[in-house]
Amino acid sequence: MRKITLSNGNTVEVECLSCALTSGLVDPDGGVVVETEHFHAHQDVAYPIRGLIILASKRHIKSLDELTEAERLDYINVMTRIRKAQREVLGIEYVYYFYNEDTTHHFHTWMVPRYEWMYEFGRSVESVRPILLHARNEMNDKENVQEVMEAIHTLTVELNDK
Ligand SMILES: [Zn+2]
Repeated sequence: MRKITLSNGNTVEVECLSCALTSGLVDPDGGVVVETEHFHAHQDVAYPIRGLIILASKRHIKSLDELTEAERLDYINVMTRIRKAQREVLGIEYVYYFYNEDTTHHFHTWMVPRYEWMYEFGRSVESVRPILLHARNEMNDKENVQEVMEAIHTLTVELNDK
């Protein structure tokens, strides 16, 4: 079991954070951006980057090759819809995708938008961690967090009102 401190200060003990989120036991800040039969998307607001989305499977699996055919289709389709929405309503030109199979949670893909300020950390995969830490440590101001929350709302509307 892992103890997780929520942003509201409450703590919950869960086996798997992804299970807790996709089952609705833990409510992500900003809410669910989009949900399909097999997937669940939200923003991890621990990293206040506008338009950063975590796309998690609902089933507790670790690896891409464990997805059923229906899940694979759902995965690529919903990821594409999210990507398109990031471009169309948030103006995000590039996204980095990241997922690791030895996670302590379960299968989830990070969709990390690229912004101009990020290029000082480089362009490759090793720039991602410093960028996330920079966002968490230096960008947690009220104004930026407000922008992040507005972007979550904008994406949610775009992905659910059609
Ligand atoms: Zn799980």
